[in-house]
Amino acid sequence: MKRIILHWTAGGYYPTAAEGEFYHFLVDAEGKVHKGRFKPEDNIVCKPKSYAAHTGGGNAGSIGVALCGMEGYKDRRICGKYPITLSQFEGAMKLAAFLAVKYGLTVDRTTIMTHYEFGFKHPSTSSYGKPDITFIPPYPWVGKNEAGDFIRSKIRWYKTKMKEV
Ligand SMILES: [Zn+2]
Repeated sequence: MKRIILHWTAGGYYPTAAEGEFYHFLVDAEGKVHKGRFKPEDNIVCKPKSYAAHTGGGNAGSIGVALCGMEGYKDRRICGKYPITLSQFEGAMKLAAFLAVKYGLTVDRTTIMTHYEFGFKHPSTSSYGKPDITFIPPYPWVGKNEAGDFIRSKIRWYKTKMKEV
């Protein structure tokens, strides 16, 4: 696998079957990890209808991890009824660290990114302008363009913890 791309579902706090079609892993409000319909390996070569289509223009080689929630999100002041929780965010970071170790990925801007960052780098894809993840409700002081770096530092920290075990 080449990279991990982080998302929010723009839905409720628990994954639906429909959401499970789009992501390899979905993290609920309590931080529990649910597996989607497809495995990361299904995205190595994306054959029609047999891979998780989480990132327009960037699905090949990409593991999709989604935090369940953020339905009704408009901006950092209007987050809807399902703002990402602390346990959920930390759970997702821990999962991403585990996946980075499992797939031998270093943690940098080319291997771990948000959907927003992917779209920003690839403006001709349908991923351009996606808001996930530009706001982290449990860490509201992290700015829109800092969210990716914040996420990468978290994952690096969890990765360190994992090696100690
Ligand atoms: Zn997304």
